[in-house]
Amino acid sequence: MSQPYSLIDATLFTQHAGAELYINLSAIVQNYHYLKQKVTPAQCGAVVKANAYGLGMIPVAQALAKTGCREFFVAHLDEGIALRSILGKEYLIYVLHGVPHGTESIYLEHHLIPILNDVHQLRNWVSLCKDHHNSYQAGIQFDTGMSRFGIGQDELFELQHIDWNIFQPALVMSHLACADTPNHPANQQQLEQFQALKQLVPNSRASLAASSGIFLGNNWHFDLIRAGIALYGGNPIPDQPNPMQNVISLQGKIIQTRYIPKGASIGYGATFTAPKDMRLALISIGYADGFFRAFSNKISAISPKFPTIPLALLGRVSMDSLCLDITDLPENGIQIGDKIEIIGNHYPIDILAQQADTIGYEILTSLGNRYHRIYT
Ligand SMILES: *Cc1c(COP(=O)(O)O)cnc(C)c1O
Repeated sequence: MSQPYSLIDATLFTQHAGAELYINLSAIVQNYHYLKQKVTPAQCGAVVKANAYGLGMIPVAQALAKTGCREFFVAHLDEGIALRSILGKEYLIYVLHGVPHGTESIYLEHHLIPILNDVHQLRNWVSLCKDHHNSYQAGIQFDTGMSRFGIGQDELFELQHIDWNIFQPALVMSHLACADTPNHPANQQQLEQFQALKQLVPNSRASLAASSGIFLGNNWHFDLIRAGIALYGGNPIPDQPNPMQNVISLQGKIIQTRYIPKGASIGYGATFTAPKDMRLALISIGYADGFFRAFSNKISAISPKFPTIPLALLGRVSMDSLCLDITDLPENGIQIGDKIEIIGNHYPIDILAQQADTIGYEILTSLGNRYHRIYT
């Protein structure tokens, strides 16, 4: 008997892939339980928008649903439709970007809960409920200080005209602008404003905090948390040690090694000149894989075989490759095809992000499509 095609394909693909992205689903599950116990008696929902921050919405949501998560957030309608195809109706799926005009029936068909972000969306939804004599589930977002999504101060007077017997909102929510800076005065201001606004909508559940907001304290928890980055191993409290478990390991393959003499330069723009005779390894990861060119000459990687020897990234990151200094590795210690850890425990996403003046969120959501994703 021959192997099923899918198995053969998977093996071949692993051989062909320039890099492997290991995604530890049990670390995500453990992170979920850590946050959940922290916010009890509030519920802990999972934000799986943007393909679960690049890690794969379907396997991530399946693992979270299996461990007891009942509420999920996505940004786009199409993300909601894709998620609904694997989750039964007992799971709640909120779509943060609201209802594009004319898509109301699609929300109903797929049992998706839109977050209504302005009074037009709210009015349309209420008339839909009225026409069908049915209070369809939807949430309402208030803007409490980000000037982004949500009903603003200038629109609040419109709420007087809503008949909450016709439409009973499933959720009122808002979003914190500065939750990763615990001492920022905006946290208290937004909290107080949200407490006042939620009184305008009787009998609705409420949600204010995302990952960092969880750590501001119980006052910010309300009924439901919307956890994203912390599930995926990002540090929700940047001034303190990361309480979350790392989730990913990005392992690039060595596709070539070479010796260069003192004085040779490396890569586009000749931004690095060898101060001595050196040995280099070419890795099959580049900026087309979402590995930022801004990392050029700034970071290091490790070989799992020699975890104490940092391998500096030399010269510029190219579109499809980058170059590491392996001069200090034993002569026969490394071969073509060996894997080098580029992101992982030795170089977590938040530390890496600092080198490119960005945040762990952007590292994750940029993780390229050419990586072969392996779930463990
Ligand atoms: C993305 C998002 C979240 C999740 O934020 P994290 O900081 O990743 O936990 C929560 N709420 C809203 C409205 C979002 O857009």
